[in-house]
Formats: sequence, structure tokens, C-alpha cells
Amino acid sequence: MNYNEQRKLIVEFGRRLYQNGYVPGTGGNLSCRIDKNTVLITPTGAAKGHLCSEELVLIDLEGNQISGNRKPSSEMPMHLFVYNNRPHINAVCHAHPPYATASSIVGKKLPEDILPEVILSIGDIPLTDYAPPGTDAVPKSLKEHINDHCAFILRNHGVLTIGLNMEEAFNRMETVEHFAKIFYISQGAGKINHLDNSEVERLRKISKALRQGNKS
Ligand SMILES: [Zn+2]
Repeated sequence: MNYNEQRKLIVEFGRRLYQNGYVPGTGGNLSCRIDKNTVLITPTGAAKGHLCSEELVLIDLEGNQISGNRKPSSEMPMHLFVYNNRPHINAVCHAHPPYATASSIVGKKLPEDILPEVILSIGDIPLTDYAPPGTDAVPKSLKEHINDHCAFILRNHGVLTIGLNMEEAFNRMETVEHFAKIFYISQGAGKINHLDNSEVERLRKISKALRQGNKS
């Protein structure tokens, strides 16, 4: 995929995040890997529903700005941490979807053993330690989780998802939020039935094999 197509994808998925209500105001940020050493990222302070491709900023993996008139996202260290630790990951999506962010505020980890399809598509979703947004503490809070997961709930903040491409990162964001919403509803609806340990283990194995196969 060429550079211009990647720029269009960030604009398109920024609009979809906004339409879903995941990035009100100027919240959230998106990036994709252009080649081995460069990453295209959204600028700081921009509404993700109304991005122009000219606003996007090209940076290298050390955070040096290569092109673009705007400043890169304040969450650049978090994005670079992902690319530097997961060489096969090509897209990073960060948003503040309401149900998943609410779970981050009450400090309730989304249980792994409820929905088989979430185990298969995403696996366990860790809840990170608190880190002030836009600081180097954010990548530090991801350190123990980055190698084994593709979606992360950032405590008192929001959600981070990663993928082989922008569509996969976005789909994971939608899946996490949908799961958080279902979990919230089910808590008020009655007793939650958890899957048996043996079934969780079986699903984990399939999920792990799938994600190891494509390194996502
Ligand atoms: Zn944020």
C-alpha cells in the first residue's frame, strides 16, 4: 500500500471512530507504519472526524519529525513504543469509547471468560496501571503487556488497539467497546455465567495459534 493510500485510510478511520462516538472533541489518535523506519501519525489537537490528509505528520521510529506542518500527537511515545516492540504491527488506534473507558475508571478488568468470540479475535484484554496521558509513563505502563496482547484498557483513560493494518486495529477497537457495553448490560441483567476453565483454555490455544501465525 502506498503513502497516499495510507493517508486516506487514517482520514477514513478517524471519521469512523468519530461517527461511533469514540473520539469526541480532539481526543484519540491514529498511526500507521509506512516502511521500516517511518510512521504516519495524526497531529495533536485535531478532531479525528474531520482530518485532512495534509495535516498528518511523518515521523521516524525515534520520534523525529520528517514532514508535516503540525506537531505530532502527544501520544507519539505510546505509538512508537508499539512499533519498536512489535515489528509486524502496522497500525495503532487510540480512542476513548464510553463503555470501555468507564470500565477503566472503575478499575474493572473485562473478564476473559465470557464471550468465546472475543477470546478468539482479541484474547485477554489487560488493564494497565495508571499513566498520565501524553507522557512517557504511558509506554512504561504497557511494557509488561505489549508482547502478548493486541488490545489494552488504559486505566482512567481509554483504549489502545493494534493490528496488522488500520482496519484490524479499528475492528479491535469496535470489538472491545461492544464487549464492554455487553458486560455492563449483563451486570445489571442477572447472574453472569462464566465459561468453564477447560473451554477458556481451548479457545485461548486457538486464539494464540491464530495470532502467532500472522504475528498480530
Ligand atoms: Zn487518550
